[in-house]
Amino acid sequence: MLDIMIDAGHGGSDPGAVGPTSLKEKDITLKLANKAGALLKQQGISIAHTRTTDVFVGLSDRAVIANSAAAKYFLSIHINSSGSSASTGTETYALAAGGEGEKLAKAMQQSLVKSIGLTDRGVKFANFAVLRETKMPAALVEVCFINNPNEEALLRNEAFLDKAALGIAKGAAAFLGISWKDGGEQKNLTPIMGASQLHTSQMISYAVKGNGSPKLPNCPLEELAGLFAEEAEIEGVRADVAWAQSLKETGYFKYGGIVLPEQNNYAGIGALNGNRQGQAASFDSPRIGVRAQIQHLKAYASTEALKQELVDPRFGLVKRGSARYVEWLGYEDNPNGVGWAYPGRGYGGGIMNILNAMSNEPVTPGTSENSNIPVWQREGLEKLVAKGIIQTPGYWTDKMDQPITVGEVIGILGKMVD
Ligand SMILES: [Zn+2]
Repeated sequence: MLDIMIDAGHGGSDPGAVGPTSLKEKDITLKLANKAGALLKQQGISIAHTRTTDVFVGLSDRAVIANSAAAKYFLSIHINSSGSSASTGTETYALAAGGEGEKLAKAMQQSLVKSIGLTDRGVKFANFAVLRETKMPAALVEVCFINNPNEEALLRNEAFLDKAALGIAKGAAAFLGISWKDGGEQKNLTPIMGASQLHTSQMISYAVKGNGSPKLPNCPLEELAGLFAEEAEIEGVRADVAWAQSLKETGYFKYGGIVLPEQNNYAGIGALNGNRQGQAASFDSPRIGVRAQIQHLKAYASTEALKQELVDPRFGLVKRGSARYVEWLGYEDNPNGVGWAYPGRGYGGGIMNILNAMSNEPVTPGTSENSNIPVWQREGLEKLVAKGIIQTPGYWTDKMDQPITVGEVIGILGKMVD
């Protein structure tokens, strides 16, 4: 008897939802269905598909296929879309509350969220044709939002699709009461220490895409990314990892949580659930805020001494070297039972999603490293750094073509100094 009929949403002349860079829902649902199906077969679970190629299958025909195969359960795979590019996360549908369909939906939702680490939007109920016309308990997963540029970027990443397929397959196995046997599963972990594997321009363009509005931290994103690159390199921490963590913690620098932009705190250091806005740690400048985050990451990721003076207020509270991998930064995902985020299930996975998607950004070679900086400009910029008006002279060099006074810079930046 057939355990599960897997239904890849849309297909053929029906593309489903289409993302801002033209990614089609039908292509992703097919990939996920085929990947999840292969994983389930490896676990000895019998499956069949409503489609395995790019063909149109009507909604009622999908139910007919499942009903005539007498599948025990029906699982439909979709990618969400909404009117807002800020919509985010995973949700799963059942026809109605109280039955086996709801139990299946709950198992799928829990497993998928654990695997891909996006926002848990919960189990919902809807009178969808494939849920209504199938005779067996049925669920429909909406993995994430294809109209959200960041989530569309994730859907272009094979590592993300592998994780999503694994989450789907594990959810179905858990619902069937079959314990998962590890085998072909990827167990590679990502060290936090090391050289950045991404170019600063990739970090910037991905952040700009996710920010999507003129909302900014306390200094331009380009300059802030430069600070991450510099401070991380000094301590031997991966700048791209720290940056991805900040994008997760600040919502691509749109903030909206406990921490306010003027606190120069890019990773919620000292923020606890239940805090009021402004209660987490504040740092004197963007550079010191970045330094504190890098030092806090190094506290978890290594037992080596710091290269620079300690600015992280919580460094001494960390068991050194207890979370060497990105995937271990959440308590509940860490075999040592500690971590940056509490309870933190999926926290490191969320950072990995951002890192993976960011790696798809094109590299734009910088100009500032190659330019010949005149002495007047270098000295002027050094003065501005010393006064704390700017953070990274490299960012400003290619934006200046004549000497400008400190007063003029203050006018440009809208900042007052003594
Ligand atoms: Zn759909």
